[in-house]
Amino acid sequence: MPDIEALLKQAQRDCAAVFEGIEQTERICFENVLGCMQAQRVSTQHFAGSTGYGYDDIGRDTLERVYADVFGCERALVRPQIVSGTHALAIALFGLLRPGERLLSAVGKPYDTLEQVIGIGDEAVDGSLASFGVGYDQVELTEAGEVDLSALTAALKRETRVVLVQRSRGYDWRPSLSLAKIGEICAAVHAVQPKAVVLVDNCYGEFTCDKEPTAVGADVIVGSLIKNPGGGLALTGGYIAGRADAISRVETRLTSPGIGGEVGSYAAGYQLFYQGLFIAPHTVAQALRGAVLAARAFELAGFPVSPAYSAPRSDIIQAIQLGTPEKLIAFCRAVQASSPVDSFAFPEPWDMPGYTHQVIMAAGTFVSGASIELSADAPMRPPYIAYWQGGLSYAHCTLAVQNTLKAVIGIS
Ligand SMILES: *Cc1c(COP(=O)(O)O)cnc(C)c1O
Repeated sequence: MPDIEALLKQAQRDCAAVFEGIEQTERICFENVLGCMQAQRVSTQHFAGSTGYGYDDIGRDTLERVYADVFGCERALVRPQIVSGTHALAIALFGLLRPGERLLSAVGKPYDTLEQVIGIGDEAVDGSLASFGVGYDQVELTEAGEVDLSALTAALKRETRVVLVQRSRGYDWRPSLSLAKIGEICAAVHAVQPKAVVLVDNCYGEFTCDKEPTAVGADVIVGSLIKNPGGGLALTGGYIAGRADAISRVETRLTSPGIGGEVGSYAAGYQLFYQGLFIAPHTVAQALRGAVLAARAFELAGFPVSPAYSAPRSDIIQAIQLGTPEKLIAFCRAVQASSPVDSFAFPEPWDMPGYTHQVIMAAGTFVSGASIELSADAPMRPPYIAYWQGGLSYAHCTLAVQNTLKAVIGIS
């Protein structure tokens, strides 16, 4: 049995240069966020809540201007009433698409929860885009999990209203999309279909790089506030940001035609959304360092990992191939046991609705379901891959790496 202390020390030494790069990205992202808050003259009056219709809610309006500035785009909708990332994506898609128009995914099958939103393979899903007569196609990834630009260009010969691009690897053994690659996709789309809207599912991607997809040609980006941009402090919410003409179609769907984004109150107030955004580049950097350390430590222990510790990253997800169901379960239980909340809980594989395999999940988070906090998810199928993400502090990640290594290496 390898000496786990020594292995961790080695891993930490190996990661030093990568950590420096992460720190540099954190500084660039942080200076951007801080500068935008100062430019919008954020002050304590913006933290107060509102009631009723929420007309002239300066906390909401200013937060949205700060987000728009941070993402370098014209407008943003940032709302506690958006219940999740899936909801934000659904609002954006339904806002942008009309019956008879076509949605194209440029990167193969989109995130699991979007299947029913789009109505993939089942036009009978009530209320799906398909049930409203919106067409859907997807351009498959290459064998290596890369974007197939020539197939994308070919697929764009047919008129396309929205092109969906998922930045994160999601729960797949494929690389996340670099900003350069997203830029290439946007250029390819706009060369053939100048009016098409490139919508990037930005979940898990915010602040992992020094730019966001809107800086490389994306028309709209969408994400969840209980992931990266909430910094671990936002208690709920989502955002949709991008070109003004696109956002004005989306706000009609967010509330109602004729009303749009000018209403929406939130009695609890907005402080945690501002404070969360302020801390988000740091939180993301902590999570990234944790993912990098996990990658190197498990690689040194002989497990295949993706991405490699030194590979460029565009999301916070780390995949670790455990090889057997016993090790996968032990891994998830060790993550749970390392959590600040529900550390005594004992994750079991279960039949999650919508999945063909059993799934095991570890999450002991302050904010229910927040995957910017340290968590692990895994479908119970060969080669038994754990998806590790989040971590509010690097110290916590280090401890969890140590505990998961111990748990996994003890099993033959
Ligand atoms: C998390 C996630 C979603 C969906 O977000 P929920 O908040 O879980 O609904 C969509 N796409 C990607 C890539 C995600 O990581």
